[in-house]
Amino acid sequence: MAAGASDLTVHALRLGPGQELLSSLVAFTEERKLRAPFIMTCVGSVTEAKLRLADATAENSRLVHLQGKFEIVSLVGTLNREAHLHICLADKEGRTFGGHVMGDLKVFTTAEVVVGEASDLKFAREMDDRTGFPELVINSRSEHA
Ligand SMILES: [Zn+2]
Repeated sequence: MAAGASDLTVHALRLGPGQELLSSLVAFTEERKLRAPFIMTCVGSVTEAKLRLADATAENSRLVHLQGKFEIVSLVGTLNREAHLHICLADKEGRTFGGHVMGDLKVFTTAEVVVGEASDLKFAREMDDRTGFPELVINSRSEHA
């Protein structure tokens, strides 16, 4: 098990029409030099999205590219350089689609995002042979200082 406790700093941003959500959030964390950032909340809308579905493996990524107008009804995950985000999107009928964010999340009207930063931790990713994916590693900032 990986675990840690920390104080919290909160950042908020709003993205506008046409901006790409994933790359904008990664750029935001890099500009502010956030070392253990995560999504606290996000609402907004997108006109497209590329998601990886649940039965993907390292060898067989099941991708879906959604196009149309979708409400962002949930966005969760950690946001370090190799961000690991999951999203739930609702279409004009209210039907929801969800998966692992791959990108192409083009903002339709807005995306209001609150990013938390665990002030005492740092996040990294290392390959986990058990899963075949680079998985979250949590370190205290006081370690390896
Ligand atoms: Zn995932």
